[in-house]
Amino acid sequence: MSEAGPKIHPQTLSVHPEDRITPGWNAVQVPVARASTILFPDLASMRALNWRDDSQWRYGLHATPTSMALQQRLAALEGGQYTLLHPSGLSSITNVYLAFVRPGDDVLIPDNVYSPNRDLGDWYARDFGVSVRYYDPLIGERIADLIQPNTKLIWIEAPGSVTMEVPDVPAIARVARAKGVVTAIDSTYAAGIAFRPLEHGIDIVVQALTKYQSGGSDVMMGATITRDSALHTELKRARMLFGIGVSADDCALVLRSLPTMQLRYEAHDRSALSLATWLATRPEVEAVLHPALPSCPGHAHFARDFTGAGGLFSIVLNARYTSAQVDAFVEGLRFFKLGWSWGGALSLALPYDIRSMRTATSWPYDGVLVRFFVGLEDTRDLRDDIERSLTQHLAG
Ligand SMILES: *Cc1c(COP(=O)(O)O)cnc(C)c1O
Repeated sequence: MSEAGPKIHPQTLSVHPEDRITPGWNAVQVPVARASTILFPDLASMRALNWRDDSQWRYGLHATPTSMALQQRLAALEGGQYTLLHPSGLSSITNVYLAFVRPGDDVLIPDNVYSPNRDLGDWYARDFGVSVRYYDPLIGERIADLIQPNTKLIWIEAPGSVTMEVPDVPAIARVARAKGVVTAIDSTYAAGIAFRPLEHGIDIVVQALTKYQSGGSDVMMGATITRDSALHTELKRARMLFGIGVSADDCALVLRSLPTMQLRYEAHDRSALSLATWLATRPEVEAVLHPALPSCPGHAHFARDFTGAGGLFSIVLNARYTSAQVDAFVEGLRFFKLGWSWGGALSLALPYDIRSMRTATSWPYDGVLVRFFVGLEDTRDLRDDIERSLTQHLAG
């Protein structure tokens, strides 16, 4: 199917996936294969099972035709080879620690990382004899100076949660690879659409499928994707030992959303960029942190490595506004709702106190940061909404 001929673009592949996991079944959608027990014809075939072999069906926890189809489609999107699914994005992050980090090891984490990853790092440091150090996300190749003989894992997030700094991913990957340190990137922001870290030398991609891949704000799931079969085997071992699996029903929901993901992503991107550009002209706003705008730290890396931006960006309000005023602005929005997670049709906004979230780098702004997720509403209504609440709550 894919041999020869012109290159097929990801959007077309998402509509015409190249997996055939249930031969003879010619429905458009993959069947929802619910299973715990999987039957074997004889004991010899049970005894011959090898958990490392991805082509064998063994037990519903480990893989079903539905989860396998989703795994293959996610691998194709990221330009990877092997995918493992987990019941949340966070549990995919946790599984990377479980697979590779042991007492005495050292882990490097960017200072702007998704907070639950930081909490996990702190827990490993406090209770499991692991050294965990936080680094400046814009460190680039100077990460070499931090790598020790016991450094086992380097986390990267591109761009960083909430504050949006875009790291030099290829530089960090190059240094880590030369020193034999595993790199794992939380690439939820790019969703396998706007940036493909495996093509830049990263070992493991983590995706919170809860976000754009689900697109409905109603499924929890995560994935790790890699090209390296030895790393995949270690991830698979940890996942199996901890009894981690996903439901076929949830996989089917994500499979249903994947063909529209790129179009949704582009719509989020257009709307968010237009709002961010407009917000940069507002007197209430001190800084706009949108990776596609030059005011965002690491913008040059974004311009070099990314092809799009999605719906997420932050602003810093002028320091003359108290956090109570900013709270009133956020609560005064009608179409931007309050809540965690993003990637669905609904717009969201939340204020953050960044200084309390980092330890390795200083934060240059005194004003409160507000992170927006721009959903799929009409951009004009979102802009009117923000303008009205700015005027109402931050006047003067
Ligand atoms: C949401 C998110 C996660 C975790 O995903 P869950 O499915 O909510 O556990 C991880 N990383 C980033 C950057 C996220 O935004």
